[in-house]
Amino acid sequence: MPSKKRDLPGAPPALRKGVEPALCGCYDGSDRAVFIKAEAQPPLKPSFRLRQQNPCGRKKMLYYVEFGLSHREVPDERSLCIYISGCRNHCENCHYPELQRPDYGYPLLENYRKMLDLYWRAASCVCFLGEGRGTLSERKELVLYSAYAHTRGLKTCLYSGRDTFIEEWMETFDYIKTGSYRPELGPLSSPRTNQRMYRKSGGVYINVTEEFQPGPDF
Ligand code: SF4
Repeated sequence: MPSKKRDLPGAPPALRKGVEPALCGCYDGSDRAVFIKAEAQPPLKPSFRLRQQNPCGRKKMLYYVEFGLSHREVPDERSLCIYISGCRNHCENCHYPELQRPDYGYPLLENYRKMLDLYWRAASCVCFLGEGRGTLSERKELVLYSAYAHTRGLKTCLYSGRDTFIEEWMETFDYIKTGSYRPELGPLSSPRTNQRMYRKSGGVYINVTEEFQPGPDF
């Protein structure tokens, strides 16, 4: 009889046997098939509870497709990566067209806390791959998830995928990736990339894109 945690929708194959993960071309998604045993949970701050209801009082909420552990998306972090549905980026040769459907997958609010219960000890960061349709309610939802992850001692990262500056609502995240995927310029690991990764340090965001790029050969 499978446990409740093994039934968590969108879990990697080690958690949900017999299901192969699909990969989005924007993300590496490596090492995601890692099974993490449930551990004793740290106490929540009494002032913060993740409400099991829509924080914005609307029916439309963020959906996700799958989640798992990866060390590639954020430098020096082991990230619980969550693939958010509703992508608006319309990249050329999209590798994961289903992510462009806003209601594809599972409601994140119903499962987010369970994911952190599974991964809080193995992960150091929660990485949201995509920001949905960018509505006000969805942004509030992402800010709520980031704040909740912070209460569990985890950093947070947003993969925006848009050509944008760092917007005010994003300032809850410890890492922010901006920039659309343009094949001719390449991903973060390309020296010609148009994408940027920022890390918050001392209250300001520093461009750390070079940490993804190979150093010079000697
Ligand atoms: S359109 Fe969205 S889902 Fe498709 S490859 Fe681009 S970022 Fe990924």
